[in-house]
Amino acid sequence: MSVESPVPSEKQKNTGGMKHFIPYGRQWIDEGDIEAVGEVLRSDWLTTGPKVEEFEKEFACVIGVREAVAVSNGTAALHAIMAAIGIGPGDEVIVPPITFVATANAVVFQGGNPVFADVDPETLLIDPEEVTGKITPRTKAVVAVDYAGQPCNYDALRAITDRHGITLIADACHALGARYGEKKVGTIADMTAFSFHPVKHITTGEGGMITTNDTKLADTMRRFRNHGIDSDHRRRGELGTWYYEMVDLGYNYRITDIQCALGLSQLRKLPNWLARRQEIAQQYNKAFSVIPGIRPLRVAPEVYHAYHLYVISCCPNGSDTRRGDFFTKLHEKGVGVNVHYIPVHLHPFYQKRFGCRVGQYPKAEKAYERIISLPIFPQMGERDVRTVIDAVIRIAEAYAA
Ligand SMILES: *Cc1c(COP(=O)(O)O)cnc(C)c1O
Repeated sequence: MSVESPVPSEKQKNTGGMKHFIPYGRQWIDEGDIEAVGEVLRSDWLTTGPKVEEFEKEFACVIGVREAVAVSNGTAALHAIMAAIGIGPGDEVIVPPITFVATANAVVFQGGNPVFADVDPETLLIDPEEVTGKITPRTKAVVAVDYAGQPCNYDALRAITDRHGITLIADACHALGARYGEKKVGTIADMTAFSFHPVKHITTGEGGMITTNDTKLADTMRRFRNHGIDSDHRRRGELGTWYYEMVDLGYNYRITDIQCALGLSQLRKLPNWLARRQEIAQQYNKAFSVIPGIRPLRVAPEVYHAYHLYVISCCPNGSDTRRGDFFTKLHEKGVGVNVHYIPVHLHPFYQKRFGCRVGQYPKAEKAYERIISLPIFPQMGERDVRTVIDAVIRIAEAYAA
């Protein structure tokens, strides 16, 4: 299978509408992807057919792990993990406040309590020292969120989870293809969740995957995605039987063969796409290193960053108002910046249900007021990278003047 050049042609560029707008992230679908999906549409199996297993096997091979379990989205992947380790009422799972709400919600789905541990202000990754301070006899797991695509401090987190005999989970929805030292993300934690939403590294429209080396947990999660039933329709057809048993309570978190065919086609492009994300990030790093007031997040020397997001602190000594102004001015220039994330504990649901309050996680809250995510995606052309750099520099210089 051939791999396309990561540099888009003039025709491929997203130039619809009156004004050219550069989104913060975007999928890249080519004719090969469309062909692969069309093939499945003409076949016997639209869902729970051969493409699901093929995608799982290929994904496990790419990551270098024994098991990959495909589900309907990244949130379902996190939920399946929480169910597989038996999270229930009263159980505590430690999560960072700087993440997408789904990380903490997955704990709540099972009746558990998410316990927040503040982040390292330089990287916005969960701080192992903060994690240690949050461990109680009820703690069952720690979720490492590889924010923006940078792997967490896994050595320190593993030392903590080993010491307490609890599970280390990775939410690597930002970090497909990232490495911590020599180890690939997806092989480090006990279970790792990935997402195939269109803004993520590869897409299936909606989709998710869990990787693990534990076959028993993988089997539990394969049941969980299919109502807790011990065999699927295709397997029963092969065995010539109608009989099945529902052994646990599960959900319909199945992924279709249509989506898995797209996933297989997309997965082949991952190495080139990661290289292009790295290239754009290096251009940003170089351009902003000399601009006062603009500071990219710190990247640890031992990691290979997957750059789902490129995040800058746009006003190190500034305020939320300054960031809001920065955001608006960039949008006016056609630069579709975004903010990742509003700290989870500040959402009304978490305040109501768990009594979370402003001021509880000061490092996350302070960082949140300053961060902005710049456009980064493989199909982004050189001209768009220049546009973003020039716009950011012009706004920053106007503040400095
Ligand atoms: C995207 C994402 C999810 C959820 O994935 P979906 O596929 O959208 O359900 C969970 N956690 C993080 C950190 C994400 O970025």
